[in-house]
Amino acid sequence: MSDVVVAVDVGGTVIKSAVVTEDAQVLARLRVPTSAALGTEVVYNNIVESIETLRDQLDEQSHVVAVGVVVTGIVDEKSGSAIHSENVGWNNIALRPMLAKHLGLPVGFGHDVRAGALAEGRLGAARGYDDYVFVAIGTGVSAGVIVAGKMVTGGGYAGEIGHVNSGRDVLCACGGNGCVEAVASASAVARRYSELTGEDVDGAKEVAERVQAGDADAMAVWADAVDGLATAIAWTGGVISPQAVVVGGGMASAGELLLAPLREQLAIKLNILRAPELVQAQLGDEAGCLGSALLAWEAFESDSDGREDEA
Ligand SMILES: [Zn+2]
Repeated sequence: MSDVVVAVDVGGTVIKSAVVTEDAQVLARLRVPTSAALGTEVVYNNIVESIETLRDQLDEQSHVVAVGVVVTGIVDEKSGSAIHSENVGWNNIALRPMLAKHLGLPVGFGHDVRAGALAEGRLGAARGYDDYVFVAIGTGVSAGVIVAGKMVTGGGYAGEIGHVNSGRDVLCACGGNGCVEAVASASAVARRYSELTGEDVDGAKEVAERVQAGDADAMAVWADAVDGLATAIAWTGGVISPQAVVVGGGMASAGELLLAPLREQLAIKLNILRAPELVQAQLGDEAGCLGSALLAWEAFESDSDGREDEA
């Protein structure tokens, strides 16, 4: 008999889930649509069904001992609540207690990007660092901040560097103006290029290809995104001086096309301060799910410790 956990990563469009062993081997994977437009009850049912589908597929040798769930938006790990998510429609949902009761298992719960940061630290590009920042650049821009080996949560608001004003007059999906996310997320890069040129593009990936081909409009949009990111990361650096900044999310697939100018701008903005190692994430879009599995194992261990104390 071997113990496993089921880890879930609830994104705005897709719910990713996986069966994961204690040494982070993924035994099975599942992806289903989040169906956020159909309401939070449907999303909740999709989470539960994903967990049950994977559990039913397991052979008799494997035993699910805990579940991990990470979600996007503002998340309070302490109370186990999804406080707010624009993309999924959460508003103060006590997700961890609901799931623990429903499933009868210990549930690890957290924020998708902070979970990704945890996974990159244990299994990926941030191994060996005690002070690091994981920046996820996808639909949004958000960071997981680790100081002296500890995750900084700030009641769910820590690391939201995407919603700091970048000084540009551009409206953000959050309702604010000038947010870093509104110039530097993968979606913003694609949207701003289309606004500038009147041409539709297939996401930030196509803008990146046009940058490489020397398209002046693409280069201008790209430079703006780099500048916004460099500003947000430089201020983070000024406050905590991380040893490393790990860049993940969809935009990270651009590799050195993004990292090289970002490194250069960051060094300029940090003046005499220590410039962090700026590296590409290693776990790709599985970071959140693997982080979710780590949280599930933590929940399992503290649950068993609790039982031992009672005995
Ligand atoms: Zn914003």
